[in-house]
Amino acid sequence: MALNFKAVGNRLGALRRLPSAAFCLQAAACAVVAWSLWHGGLSSAPALDKAPPATKPDARAGTPVSAAPAPGQAAPISLAATPLAGAQIAGAQLALSRIDVIVTRNDTLDRIFRRLKLSLADLASIRFLPGARTNLDSLRPGESLHLMHKDGQLFGLERRLNESQTLKVSRDVGGLKADVVQNALDSRRRTVRGRIDSSLFEAVQAAGAHDQTAVALADIFGWDIDFVLDVRPGDAFVVTYEEIWRDGAYVKDGPIEAAAFVNQGHEYRAVRYTDPEGGSHFYTPEGKSLHKAFLRAPVEFTRVSSRFNSARRHPILNLIRAHKGIDYAAPIGTPVKAAGDGRVRFAGNKGGYGNVVEIEHSASIVTVYGHLSRFAHGTHAGARVTQGTVIAYVGMTGLATGPHLHYEYRVNGEFKNPQTVALPGAAPIDARWSADFLTRSAPLLATLDAPQGPVLVSR
Ligand SMILES: [Zn+2]
Repeated sequence: MALNFKAVGNRLGALRRLPSAAFCLQAAACAVVAWSLWHGGLSSAPALDKAPPATKPDARAGTPVSAAPAPGQAAPISLAATPLAGAQIAGAQLALSRIDVIVTRNDTLDRIFRRLKLSLADLASIRFLPGARTNLDSLRPGESLHLMHKDGQLFGLERRLNESQTLKVSRDVGGLKADVVQNALDSRRRTVRGRIDSSLFEAVQAAGAHDQTAVALADIFGWDIDFVLDVRPGDAFVVTYEEIWRDGAYVKDGPIEAAAFVNQGHEYRAVRYTDPEGGSHFYTPEGKSLHKAFLRAPVEFTRVSSRFNSARRHPILNLIRAHKGIDYAAPIGTPVKAAGDGRVRFAGNKGGYGNVVEIEHSASIVTVYGHLSRFAHGTHAGARVTQGTVIAYVGMTGLATGPHLHYEYRVNGEFKNPQTVALPGAAPIDARWSADFLTRSAPLLATLDAPQGPVLVSR
């Protein structure tokens, strides 16, 4: 099947490169290019002999056109492959023509069908197909539609709905049917490097990558580097990532595969590994997790309104009293996340804490979240939580002068400074997979040291 599709694709590709003089048909308002794709019967088309058995039974059964490829598998050329099968079926009788229409202002499908003298009955049946109507309602000026017909009878219609999906109408035994298929994407591996002058975002853009990659870099190394406070001019990075392309056009930056970041002279390296169970995580070249078992701050805060302090004057009680946690100022309602995996041991109201959640983690660590406005659904004593789960929302219940999260980190009952305590690392690479990890990560890590230049990979 693949061979066959490819042959047609190449042929079609060649046709697409015809001089633009082939345009300018009909009214100036409408650019239509039409050509007859394939004439002649089974015997006169040697390529057809290569057609796999899968399409031949259809042909013998007299099916007008073989079924469209399964959703998700269709490549942009698949519609072009359809007429080949069609030609095969009815011999010289069935030669399909493909028409590419550029939609103009105020164009409707009805106008296009009339202009091209396509069957209005077919148009009516398309409109009854589930999924087709809404996806054909409003055409955008400038977009292109691909139509396949034989003497005005519609055999195929293709419309790209968005970056990732295409509507495909095709004709099979039961008549016309519509499918929404995923557009085929290509990924190209790319390595870029840069040096920071002012911000990570600017440096990443100057290197030729995009914001997604800057965000991903900050996510990967954010456990070791505070990208707000620690980054200095002169810090440098190298990043190997996948660029996602479709039909020869850039779509977006895909996942990072390997990266290095030099912060104040110290180099951090990360490589992405997808284990045999499908989990993807970043590890150091030695296979240690880049993640910590705890979030440094369990809330998106605007500022630290009170630091960990063994002797401070309490703003409400007006007493010298230790502040055994840290206060993160944030608007009321800001989500508060579980700092690590664990089990809720208390969720309720408790004196000066107001509404408070306490979570027990492994290694005798307990985290505490106070002054909450309300609890998230499912936050109750005994509930299991994973790192990053929203457990509650910022408030100012209990003894609080303004909306903030009071956060404590206790080890064996002892209060630690959440800003500076050494956080335990998350689990390293599973021992079962360490050999596989080393084998697969070596070439990715090597890209960080290779001379700069894009490397194309096909998937
Ligand atoms: Zn506090």
